[in-house]
This record gives sequence, structure tokens and C-alpha cells, in this order.
Amino acid sequence: MTEEAFGIDNGEVIENHWLGSARRVVSPNANDRPMDEISAVVLHGISLPPGEFGGDAIERLFTNTLDPDAHPAFPAIVSLRVSAHLLIRRSGECVQFVPFDRRAWHAGKSRWLDGERPFQEQRREGLNDFTIGIELEGTDECAYREAQYRRLAIVLRTLIANYPAIAVERIIGHAQIAPLRKSDPGPAFDWAYLRRCLTEIV
Ligand SMILES: [Zn+2]
Repeated sequence: MTEEAFGIDNGEVIENHWLGSARRVVSPNANDRPMDEISAVVLHGISLPPGEFGGDAIERLFTNTLDPDAHPAFPAIVSLRVSAHLLIRRSGECVQFVPFDRRAWHAGKSRWLDGERPFQEQRREGLNDFTIGIELEGTDECAYREAQYRRLAIVLRTLIANYPAIAVERIIGHAQIAPLRKSDPGPAFDWAYLRRCLTEIV
């Protein structure tokens, strides 16, 4: 099967930086990227309320419409201004909040050694500037679902095909770039299995 056929069969087409198969929920929490670079992907885990799956709280958080009275955990986060480009729900459903050419607000204070760059320029900060953020609905300790790995692998292959600076070794976890602050997607995320899915899905 050719790459083209792969894209068509899975409905994974990117048009104007929107994924064709994703449900769109537009987030205002985005701005222009400071430079013309989309070269890495940051994977996250999220659940709202914490440890609970389903419901619309994640979408509400990313659109600044979370009801602080709906859960005791919400008042502390209701004024955050955050987003991600994509959310992959437990079912494998994909939601897109920000077009890929805009900067979503998912990584926060972050740094990374970028091995693709000259030695003196490898130390990079502010990963929102040049990454695509993908949230997986889940927790650090609870196994992510097969439907999520499969959808994630298809989405990642589509991103790599559309943004050539992205490569498999430039798919990183939030914990890796903000290690004292963040732990997601956590030990529950099976990086080896993701790599297998990336090579085996046809
Ligand atoms: Zn995160």
C-alpha cells in the first residue's frame, strides 16, 4: 500500500493545518508561532476530573468554559489558559483545538536538547514554539487503550508525512521536557508499543 492510499483509507488528510478526521472544537488559547518551524511532537496525558474519563471537562478547560462549581478540583484550574492541538479520547476519537501552524499552549516552561542542531544551539526552551501537542485521555498509572495507540500512530504518521521536520525520534513526552514539574504521559504509556504501532500499521 502506498503512503497516499494509507492516507485516503484512514481519512487522515490535513487541510489548512486541520486534520480532516478530527472533530473541531476551536480553542482561543493559541497564538502565532514565532518562527516557521514545526519539528517535534509532545505527548501528554490528561483526565478531568482527575482520574475520571468521559465528559466534556477537558474540552471546557481548553475553551475557557469550565464550570468551577462542577467539581472540587476545578476552581484551581479554571483560570488556566491552556490548550493542545489534539486530544485522543479513550475511544480513539480525535478532537482538534488549534490548527498545527498556530502555537498551542501545552508544554509550559520546558527545555530539551535538540540533537538535530549544531552543538552550541542544541539547548532549546519554550517547546510550544515549534512542537505539536497531543493529549491522550488517561492517567500516569492507568494503561492507555489500544484504540488510542492505533489512532495516535495513524495521526503521527500523517503528521510526519505533512511536516517533514518531524521524525519518530522527535516524538517526546511532557515529563521529558519538564521533568521536575510534569510526569505525563506517565509510566502507563508504552513507548515501545507506540514504536511498534508506528512501524506495523498498514
Ligand atoms: Zn502534559
